Amino acid sequence: MKTIDVSKAVYSFKPAMQAVETAKPGEEITFITADCWNGQICREDQLITDVDFSILNPATGPLYVEGAEPGDTLKVSILDFVLADHGVINIIPGHGTLGNRFTEPTTRILPIVDSKIEFLGLSLPVKPMIGVIGVATTLEDGEISTGTPWKHGGNMDTKDICAGAAIFLPVSQTGAMLAIGDVHALMGDGEVCVTGCEIGARVTVKVDLIKGIHMTWPMLETNTHLMIITSGETLDKAAETASAETVDCLSQHLGISWHEAYMLTSLVVDLKVSQCVDPMKTIRAAIPKNVISINQIFPTRRYV
Ligand code: CA
Ligand code: CA
Repeated sequence: MKTIDVSKAVYSFKPAMQAVETAKPGEEITFITADCWNGQICREDQLITDVDFSILNPATGPLYVEGAEPGDTLKVSILDFVLADHGVINIIPGHGTLGNRFTEPTTRILPIVDSKIEFLGLSLPVKPMIGVIGVATTLEDGEISTGTPWKHGGNMDTKDICAGAAIFLPVSQTGAMLAIGDVHALMGDGEVCVTGCEIGARVTVKVDLIKGIHMTWPMLETNTHLMIITSGETLDKAAETASAETVDCLSQHLGISWHEAYMLTSLVVDLKVSQCVDPMKTIRAAIPKNVISINQIFPTRRYV
């Protein structure tokens, strides 16, 4: 299996990206990812003030997927995580939901033993997830830091982007240019203090290509739900976009009116906060799979 080394990382998604590896649709590939601090924090006496901010949130890649063209969708099935033996969590004055309530930054190293995080005498089972996953952007959107989520994916910090799930990303440039980083061993919805259990990892994924269908925002498939992941300058704006995208999706693919789809959305769709601490806030709209299936949106016949 191909592996992309941790040294091959980008710090922004943009229209023109230089691929470091290629894959065919159907191929599995491993991305070795650094933590969001790029490994710069390894002791508790190291504070945020010790960090070089120009190399934060590295995303390993990008991967060129053969045959991917604008208007297609890249499906990335998340197969497996191998985590480092410890993670790190930080609180940072001025950041997070309570950043105005304290002045001293604090770092904690989080040892991982038998797939559990040891913290405050608690033994917390890991639930590994990908914070940053995205593809090259449109010319209109231009260059977007790996710290920001948007239509191309990016720093969505959505805890359901975990093993067993698949994310569908809109392809805007030839080759798609997939990059992955910012794994968390554990994170709650919101990521309220601005960090989860930040950790280096080996992430194995399978890439598939769906021709000629394109959603505006990323969609995630879990065992039970389809989730449309949207971002905005505020949670309210992100919720409005998530609602609008969901209503349009249900109306189009179920053949019902916009008005009917709006009511159906209100009955069965959960809006969940993915994160409320990044430069854009992220909401995911979780649609139960008994309402609509992934094949109704991305039919199997469209796969390469
Ligand atoms: Ca993040
Ligand atoms: Ca992070």
